[in-house]
Amino acid sequence: MAQQQQVDEQVGTEFVVDTEDCEARELAHRERGTARPITVVGNPVLHRECRDVTEFGDELASLIDDMFASQKAAEGVGLAANQIGVDLKVFVYDCPDDDGVRHTGVVVNPVLDELPAERRVLDDSNEGCLSVPTAYAELARPDYAVVRGQDAQGKPIAVEGTGYFARCLQHETDHLYGRLYIDRLSKRERKAALKQMEEGTPRYETVPND
Ligand SMILES: [Zn+2]
Repeated sequence: MAQQQQVDEQVGTEFVVDTEDCEARELAHRERGTARPITVVGNPVLHRECRDVTEFGDELASLIDDMFASQKAAEGVGLAANQIGVDLKVFVYDCPDDDGVRHTGVVVNPVLDELPAERRVLDDSNEGCLSVPTAYAELARPDYAVVRGQDAQGKPIAVEGTGYFARCLQHETDHLYGRLYIDRLSKRERKAALKQMEEGTPRYETVPND
């Protein structure tokens, strides 16, 4: 018995299948949902940790539908609940990995795995955020990520990502802990990103800051 358990642990996690029927699943969510305006840097809801989700019912389902609708309206590849002003740990994604494979799904109460040193290969691609409209900056992040949490029904899940999708999983989880990607930049780069944002005009509706 003990031996078997050890083997199971070594085999490890079964990852959720998020690459099938992406088109249909994404469409079904957003057709039920309503697009909401996007909160931007400076809005307090983006700068503190969100609350854990404890109820997995209709309200959560309809929040997820609204998040898919909002993500599409803003042409995003990932969206955290606090980006539409909701203080709950939920994110959705619709994002390609580095093999061009599309991943679509939702993670509730996400926690990132600590990566073993040999899997920490940094990639310094460009990153942007719907809550920092029109700005982009290079940011080094691991090119592999595993996030654990729950699905919309509360069932434990794990999601694995590579490349751009790994970046997305890290970026969205950060959001739910009150952290924007610009908070990971140097002071100078952060300032430059905020300047880009000031000079640009978002192509989607945003929530004005007081
Ligand atoms: Zn973002």
